[in-house]
Amino acid sequence: MNNDNKSVNVEEAPIKSATLSTEMNKLYRNSNANPTLKFNLALAHGSNLNDSYVSKRYGINSYVSGDIIYSSLSALVKDAKLSADEIIDKAGNSVAAKIYFVVITDDGYEIKSNTVSIDLVDCDHSQVVDPTADKETAGNITEPTYCEICESKFNAKITKGDDVRYYNNLDEAAKDAQKSENEGCTLYPLYNKNGYGGQLVLKKKNGDGGQLVITEGNFTLKYAVRTAFSRPIIINGKAKLTVTGRCAVTAFENQDAFIVRGGDVTFDGLATGSNVTINGGNVTMAANNINCLTINGGNVSISSGGFAEIVTTVSDKVIADYIDPGFWVQDRGTKEWIDIYSLNKATASSTNGLTVRLCPMQIIKPIDTVYYTNGYYPDGIPSLQINAEPWYSNEVDAKVAYQWIAIDENGYETVIEGATDRKLSLENLTTGRYYCRLTYSNATTAGVSMKSDVVTATITECEHSGGEATCTKKAKCEICGAEYGEPLGHDYVVIKIVEPDYRNEGYSVFECTRCKDSYIGNRVPVKPIPDVEEIAVEKTTYNEVDISWKNISGVDGYYVECYVGNQWKQINCSADGDRVAAKLSGLSAGLKYKVRIAAYAGSFTAKFRCFYVDTVPSPVWNINTVKATDETVRISWSRNARADGYKVEWYINNQWSVKTVTGNNNISAVIDGLCAGTRYKVRVSAYKGDLYSPYTYGYIDTLPSKVTGITQTVTSSSFTLKWDKNESADGYTVQYYADGKWNEKTLVGNKKTTVTIGSLKGYKTYKVRIKAYKGELESTFDDIYITTAPTKVSGLKVKSAVDSKAVVIWNADTNADGYNVEYYIGGRWLEKTITDNKTAMAVLGGLTPYITYKVRVRAYKDNLYGDYSYTTVTAVLSPVTNIKVVSAKSNSITVKWGKNASADGYKVEIYKGGKWVKKTLKGSTNATVTIGGLRAGSVYKVRIASYKGANTSTYTYANVKTAK
Ligand SMILES: [Zn+2]
Ligand SMILES: [Zn+2]
Ligand SMILES: [Zn+2]
Repeated sequence: MNNDNKSVNVEEAPIKSATLSTEMNKLYRNSNANPTLKFNLALAHGSNLNDSYVSKRYGINSYVSGDIIYSSLSALVKDAKLSADEIIDKAGNSVAAKIYFVVITDDGYEIKSNTVSIDLVDCDHSQVVDPTADKETAGNITEPTYCEICESKFNAKITKGDDVRYYNNLDEAAKDAQKSENEGCTLYPLYNKNGYGGQLVLKKKNGDGGQLVITEGNFTLKYAVRTAFSRPIIINGKAKLTVTGRCAVTAFENQDAFIVRGGDVTFDGLATGSNVTINGGNVTMAANNINCLTINGGNVSISSGGFAEIVTTVSDKVIADYIDPGFWVQDRGTKEWIDIYSLNKATASSTNGLTVRLCPMQIIKPIDTVYYTNGYYPDGIPSLQINAEPWYSNEVDAKVAYQWIAIDENGYETVIEGATDRKLSLENLTTGRYYCRLTYSNATTAGVSMKSDVVTATITECEHSGGEATCTKKAKCEICGAEYGEPLGHDYVVIKIVEPDYRNEGYSVFECTRCKDSYIGNRVPVKPIPDVEEIAVEKTTYNEVDISWKNISGVDGYYVECYVGNQWKQINCSADGDRVAAKLSGLSAGLKYKVRIAAYAGSFTAKFRCFYVDTVPSPVWNINTVKATDETVRISWSRNARADGYKVEWYINNQWSVKTVTGNNNISAVIDGLCAGTRYKVRVSAYKGDLYSPYTYGYIDTLPSKVTGITQTVTSSSFTLKWDKNESADGYTVQYYADGKWNEKTLVGNKKTTVTIGSLKGYKTYKVRIKAYKGELESTFDDIYITTAPTKVSGLKVKSAVDSKAVVIWNADTNADGYNVEYYIGGRWLEKTITDNKTAMAVLGGLTPYITYKVRVRAYKDNLYGDYSYTTVTAVLSPVTNIKVVSAKSNSITVKWGKNASADGYKVEIYKGGKWVKKTLKGSTNATVTIGGLRAGSVYKVRIASYKGANTSTYTYANVKTAK
């Protein structure tokens, strides 16, 4: 058949995908926690999927489960879970479980999910919570011991030394405990995971029917928890076992908790209501509380304990060792405790099933029957006593009668009167034989009578002998044990002297040369730790102070504390040889700190030594010159509020001069004794007490010294100043105020000590200053007022100069007081003073004509004299005057004229013959001349001039007429 061409109807699967995940990806193989793993199964499916008839199966590694029918999709998804045990079981030995789910619909569609991998590992049980761990004396613990990692709850543990191993079940643990390498270990049944009661579930094993069988080993089985077994623990073989623990150990349904068939077993301290059956072996029992002890064989020794029932089938053998009065049995019917007191032939019976075959009743004291009246009896005078003790003494006493019987040498018995107690004092007895009879009178035991052993009591005095006295004890009689004689007493000598130190008191050790007994005596008190001494401040800065003190040998150290910030701050210190040093740091400048030091040794501390240290003040700053003169400089600086004052120093004459300023508010000082115009180095240190801050340096400069020796001269237009040379100056500045401003002239170098200022006005007062300067500094100065001399007179000119006189004039100077007029005559200046300023003229006399004279005039005012104005004057001879004809003759004429004393003579000329005829007359007084040779009645022209040397005055003409 070929269907290739047939159309195919492809049906869509109802489930599209199944996605599997889980939040747990690790399981512990060795855990018994068996958690349930919830898987998240997410299904994607079409809308037409019938909600019912969906199932799943799962696969773990090679294992695939059968189908499981679910009623709905949501149930399938919600219940996707597997138990850890199942996963581990199905995964076999794999290191991981590969898990997937297959989701199947009822009509055959199925889809497989992805695979989830879960690691299968062994837990190292490294985080076990063990409530029994610190319960060495056992308890009644009802909390599980479990591992925090794998959550396994342990059924058992084995400890050996510090080694602890935990087990999921007791069988495995018991198996390990029996191994020879675990000899001496302790096996603990633990409160297990089955909850209340802590029933130990013993895994069934082939042939053992679930019983725990211990056949070997040598270990302790210790109960720290309330424990119940479903099956007995069987002990046989070569096992050496101690069973202990103050907890109830029971088996269910009245089975035996323990069956001993062999081995060496000790039951010690079981608090149990359980049954123990002993069929063989060697069993020791003490301090147990056992419900029913069944003894069918073996060797049993019971020293104490309680039993509700003892059943034995082997009579004498078992009970023969019951000699301890602390041993008791409870009546199972009445629940009352019953004393067992039985001589070897006596019996005691209970109302309900108690069977005691044999019980001893013996006289237990004294051990021997010899009584020494002077013997050693520490518990008082001995008595004969029997060992049985009534349980409820009040009640039993009322029902029991004691009789003490003496037997004489012939065997006759006599009841000792008044001896009705369990004890019979030997004090009043004589040597003989005695026994006690006990008779019950209560309802159940009425008439039961028991007879104790017969003992012989020998009453005698001891003749002490033997034994050796020691230092402290008398000799002890070897016969009766009494002490006799006297002790030797100790022979102490000092064998060691321990000096006291700072920690321990001193003492001497005394030792007895005989017995070596020693004691400590001659105690000397602990040496007091001395106060620290020689405290010294080694170094101080603004923020640190190094201190040291003398080391005290033998102490452990020192408490060094500095009070900083309102609290004591601990300071480290270190010893170096003889000294101990400590550094106080983090301090503030210029402060006082309290420090205390005490040595300590062991728990002893010496008294604190307190003292103060100061820190160095901060340096000053801002050293400024406030004011300088030529000899002093006032400086100032910033205030240091923590200082006591300041030390100011300046370097002069190759050394520092010092000045101390007290009080921190005083922040300036005058440095004096300085030279003018000089630069000095200064330094300032703030001090506090004897601590000085580092210096702050600066320079000061004195002013050049004031200019001295100033002299002034003035002219009409200038003044000239002179002064003394100033060695401290670089030069000079001369200032004067003119034209509304200060004008200045600077002289460089100190050698030139004069200056002239010109172009000034006369009569004017100028303010002038001379300052010496050095660099930029100027000396002090005084204002000088300089008044210029009167203005130079003007308009000086010669008004007239004839013969011996000249008149000079000038412009009047209204500012002047007057004038000096001088002309140089006769080799000197001839002065003429005019004492008012209006007379601006002067007549100069005594001149010689034709001689030129220098003339000068100056104005004066007060004592100031203006510049001279110069001119010259040259007088001429005045023309001849007053020519008169004295006589006229016809041929001569005599003429006379006024004499001129300034003249040397006269030149007289007459015009005659067409020419001037000259005649010279010498001498000024010859002012008359007669001219002859004239014609009568003729008029002649005459001219006369006076002469001086070669100079001649102008001619004066006259006409003269001769007589007829
Ligand atoms: Zn674990
Ligand atoms: Zn003695
Ligand atoms: Zn001694």
